[in-house]
Amino acid sequence: MTAIGIDLGTTNSCAAVWRGGRVDVLKDAEGYPVTPSVVSVRENGETIVGRRAARELEINPLHCYRAVKRLIGRRFTDPQVKLTQETSAFEIQPAENGEAWIQGRDQLLSPSHISAMVLARVKASAELALGKKIDKAVITVPAFFNDAQRKATLAAGEIAGLRVLRIINEPTAAAMALELDRESPQIVAVYDLGGGTFDLSILRVDAEGEIDVLCSNGDTFLGGEDFDRALVDHVAEAFIAEHGVDPRGDVLARARLKLAAEEAKCELSEAEQTRILLPKPFMVIGVEREPVALDAPLTRATLEQLTAPLIARTIEICALALEDAGLSVGEIDRVVLVGGQTRMPAVQAAVKSFFGRATMLAPDPDQIVARGAAVMAAALTGQLAVELSDVTPFALGVQSARDEMINLIPAQHKIPARKTVAFTTVVPDQDAVTVRLRQGGSEDPRDNLALGRFDLDGVRPGRDGRVIIDVTADIDADGVMTASARDRGSGRVQNLTVETMGLSPRAIERLAKQLRTRAREAAEETPRL
Ligand code: AMP
Repeated sequence: MTAIGIDLGTTNSCAAVWRGGRVDVLKDAEGYPVTPSVVSVRENGETIVGRRAARELEINPLHCYRAVKRLIGRRFTDPQVKLTQETSAFEIQPAENGEAWIQGRDQLLSPSHISAMVLARVKASAELALGKKIDKAVITVPAFFNDAQRKATLAAGEIAGLRVLRIINEPTAAAMALELDRESPQIVAVYDLGGGTFDLSILRVDAEGEIDVLCSNGDTFLGGEDFDRALVDHVAEAFIAEHGVDPRGDVLARARLKLAAEEAKCELSEAEQTRILLPKPFMVIGVEREPVALDAPLTRATLEQLTAPLIARTIEICALALEDAGLSVGEIDRVVLVGGQTRMPAVQAAVKSFFGRATMLAPDPDQIVARGAAVMAAALTGQLAVELSDVTPFALGVQSARDEMINLIPAQHKIPARKTVAFTTVVPDQDAVTVRLRQGGSEDPRDNLALGRFDLDGVRPGRDGRVIIDVTADIDADGVMTASARDRGSGRVQNLTVETMGLSPRAIERLAKQLRTRAREAAEETPRL
């Protein structure tokens, strides 16, 4: 069976395949190269995914789930979840395991489950385009996705009935797609500003086609959505000044305003001015229940002013990445722009001004990541030889008994990686230890993501009375982390059990079955000629 590459995007998803010695982007069932990452659940329970679902954002705002990638693998208490709630019409609720899930019509839905519906749709379209079954895929994620976000994406793939051959970083995938027409060894910076996330990766691509990621930095909550939000807030303030009512407080008005703002933002990449026009009755307000329209003229200059802090933040991250890689701006040969938001002229200008003499490449930002994933899928199924070495953007460490962070694998270390560090017990006669694994670069463990803990009991002191525990941390090629501890005295080994985050294998299997049944039912419902 065939393996494909899938870019599971915040806004749109795209699939590509390696065939006949080249990469082809696979059109979706409606003939478009990308599929909106939107799921709409209608009142009768019918689930619609993709372009038709995106058309329902205004009529079914509470159960039209979009930009779910912003929630995947996040705890409900994460401040970003609150921000997502402010811009989403659907309701976000805490799940039993503490994650942020979405209030469906009759159950809470995990972001992995909704992403699986998008993946299942992309898979079905690809099967239609290729005329054969697909069971394997390489799926891309933002380079700055942490362990929980990566695991949640793997779970989405599994629920969708795909064997995920590898999770690869989006900027790395973009570089792999470009690598095919590389000329000479060079240092490439991939600036990836999509709908929800920003990544900056610096890579060395050598003449033999070997790709060596030198470092990755980013922000998983900085993307086109934030540009839209800046515009929505600006227009809402003007509306309040005129009518005394905040349109963001009304679910439908907010959904319509967000869509119109995004459209205006895209138009301003071409035009110098536009207007957001939402005709009467945009809202019905006041005791007289007066229907009003929203009519807001906008210039490119205003948009640029409103979003300047967001663009500045991406440039700050570029500077940090260069520092991590130990490179100066002058050493970058090429800058590759990836992600729909890089179509904004002010973004391009800021990147150009920061990187100076480097040549800028802007390949099709919607498809380049999926193309790279297809190259990787071909490499992993033995059709193509590609040498790739990636890094982990986060340190992996252990919280000590003194509440200090002891890093086992530093940030920007090559992956896969494995490191063992010896720890000793704190008090005499201690016969049990708790190892708490955390991901992140902060010195204060509480600022880093808790990956899990394990208790090793029945430990035996060595000859000098001390207990030595060897803690081994692993980061695999997907960037997923695991750990184990071994008591040298007794030889006992304990593996990490992830505490609360993520779906259990049983839950994944149950959801996969549910999705398969639904797909079968839908196929049976379709009248055949
Ligand atoms: P991606 O995740 O790469 O599909 O990027 C999607 C983001 O790019 C969304 O926030 C879009 O609004 C934004 N986008 C798409 N086209 C344009 C454009 N012409 N100008 C500005 N932003 C755009």
